[in-house]
Amino acid sequence: MPDAASQREFALQIAKQLRGAGYEAVWAGGCVRDRLLGYVPKDYDVATNATPEQIRDLFGRRRTLPIGMAFGVVSVLGPRAAGQIDVATFRTDATYSDGRHPDHVTFTNAEHDAQRRDFTINGLFYDPIANEVIDYVGGQGDLARRIVRAIGDPRLRLAEDKLRMLRAVRFAATFEFAIEPVTLATIQEMAPDILTVSAERIGMELRRMLVDRHRATAIALLRESKLLPHVLPEVAQLSESAFLETARILHALDSPTLSTALAALLCQPPTPDAHLAGTLGRRLKYTNKEIERTAWLLAHLPTVADAPTLPWPRVQRILIHDGAAEILALHGAIAGSNDRALAFCRERLSWPVDKLNPAPLVDGADLIGHGLKPGPVFSNLLEQVRDAQLNGEIHATAEALALVDRLRAAPNTLR
Ligand code: ATP
Ligand code: MG
Repeated sequence: MPDAASQREFALQIAKQLRGAGYEAVWAGGCVRDRLLGYVPKDYDVATNATPEQIRDLFGRRRTLPIGMAFGVVSVLGPRAAGQIDVATFRTDATYSDGRHPDHVTFTNAEHDAQRRDFTINGLFYDPIANEVIDYVGGQGDLARRIVRAIGDPRLRLAEDKLRMLRAVRFAATFEFAIEPVTLATIQEMAPDILTVSAERIGMELRRMLVDRHRATAIALLRESKLLPHVLPEVAQLSESAFLETARILHALDSPTLSTALAALLCQPPTPDAHLAGTLGRRLKYTNKEIERTAWLLAHLPTVADAPTLPWPRVQRILIHDGAAEILALHGAIAGSNDRALAFCRERLSWPVDKLNPAPLVDGADLIGHGLKPGPVFSNLLEQVRDAQLNGEIHATAEALALVDRLRAAPNTLR
């Protein structure tokens, strides 16, 4: 991860070098917004009137990556601590026939470049040498008013790139801004068109909303903007009380993984259904690992909720699982931090490892050594022996093998 001070310094050096060569160069977009809001920018973008070829000539082929020459974007490689910074030629985006990508771009001046951006708060430039904000779109006023407003005619701007509808919600939620009324009304009208955007892009926006601490606000805004039935139908169909409870749980989570947040979305009746994890996760192109973890969380939440009264071996298998921290976080968000089952699980987790998860008394090789033929009953026998061990009924390998013999001799047991 690049560090913030080196990134900023490198972004300044790039601007200086472009200026030294006679070009205009400013910081642009999200980094300007973030700095004015008092946040450390994730990354810096530099905008210039130099063409991509001129940018490559100036910084050298070896120090640049032609990541989007057709769109006028060149990535300049910095020192290790600074990472790389995108330098983009001022451009206007021509018609969007697919509602997502400009058909072609035209290189232009700073003012037109500001106007092709999505929201006024994202349309600011900053001159890092003169320390001056350059505002062609009223972005500073909207930052002060805490408003997300489309640049120009919201209807045209949202129609040319439907993803902007979700971006508006994300920016409003994460910055605790309101969406300007006409922009919001336009999203409400156009909401069904969000499905023309690729599932990956929708999934990426939702991911960012869900891991952000304003995730409950984001869900409420998705509903208000009428995007929810199209992007998260599983949540849109909840009853009013279940929706409010879902929002409460989302809010109560502290820095959840995506899987935990997804499980929170799906944990309310009538849908505490682990299969929905697959439907939702595959639709939004989340990874198999994330989907499996979400399904696991949903499937085992009831075990955690009833932990104090259930057989210990069942609970133990949850607590030693990779997802233990996530399931306890989710259960805590649902049941509250004073919950008895949560306290029970935490107490068990504080046990020394050899008590919480003692080394097994026997394994498959021991069973073979004991004269058994390897086969499908092995895992069942081993599980039963493990349960007995965890229950404190047996303490040594000899006792475990004796139990195996009893289990095999017992009627109705798998042999
Ligand atoms: P963040 O990186 O925190 O999501 P950002 O504003 O930097 O916020 P990026 O997606 O990195 O967002 O884009 C950088 C800038 O490019 C934006 O600030 C905006 O000016 C412009 N931009 C990005 N996506 C779009 C879009 N879909 N339509 C119009 N302009 C866009
Ligand atoms: Mg950015």
